[in-house]
Amino acid sequence: MALGQIKAECLGFYGGVETIAQAAYVSTGASEGKTYEDKLKLIDYLVKHRHASPFRFAGCTIRLRIPIFCDREIVTHTVAIQGSVGESARYRNTFSEFYTPDDLTDTTNYKGACAIAMLSYHRMIKDTPANATKEQRARIRELARGVLPVATMVERIIQVNINGLCSIMRQRLAIQAQLEIRDTAQKILKCLPSEWEFILNKLEEYGWNL
Ligand SMILES: Cc1cc2nc3c(=O)[nH]c(=O)nc-3n(C[C@H](O)[C@H](O)[C@H](O)COP(=O)(O)OP(=O)(O)OC[C@H]3O[C@@H](n4cnc5c(N)ncnc54)[C@H](O)[C@@H]3O)c2cc1C
Repeated sequence: MALGQIKAECLGFYGGVETIAQAAYVSTGASEGKTYEDKLKLIDYLVKHRHASPFRFAGCTIRLRIPIFCDREIVTHTVAIQGSVGESARYRNTFSEFYTPDDLTDTTNYKGACAIAMLSYHRMIKDTPANATKEQRARIRELARGVLPVATMVERIIQVNINGLCSIMRQRLAIQAQLEIRDTAQKILKCLPSEWEFILNKLEEYGWNL
């Protein structure tokens, strides 16, 4: 299954019900004696009334493996994502896999076109003259990425808090979004910490509408 090539893995997280509640209680100064139940009710209230700021006090780091065309969509979330690193085609030449949808017949020659582009990329690097300087080798790798297909699978690590996550989910889970970016969003959701289950259920219930 081609969508199986798309992956999301949570590398770590901070915060949850407690930090979000404490951030919200600062407004009213009423944190004394609150039970866990009170904090869950507060989360419900905050989501319902779109008090977004406390949700910045919980976040996580996620590693994605996605085609370049999805990566381009992910990096448009410049405000929602607080930190982001992607692999460098200047320092690496390990690109070897391209996304292959299984709902496309090969009459389009999609696979052949991607394979030729991928081969051209590796050939450009392989054909680097033996006497090329370090700088020239780096330059060839830089230029060779110009022939990679945008279906090439790449890695990106993103840092996102729950407030930002809402913005991404609201847009990328929507039915009008492309299948692959919807799948990416669903896999991000699946890998989120189980400690956030109550919060995420509430956000889903209210349509990620923080
Ligand atoms: C179905 C779909 C189709 C799309 N098609 C295209 C396309 O054809 N071409 C294209 O270029 N893009 C396209 N996009 C990308 C889209 O236009 C957004 O750039 C992208 O989804 C990031 O959204 P954002 O700006 O809300 O993200 P973020 O930058 O993460 O912003 C998050 C939120 O912060 C606030 N914010 C961000 N910047 C500002 C600001 N400067 N001032 C005030 N508030 C701000 C807004 O509330 C915003 O929603 C598409 C997106 C979707 C979901």
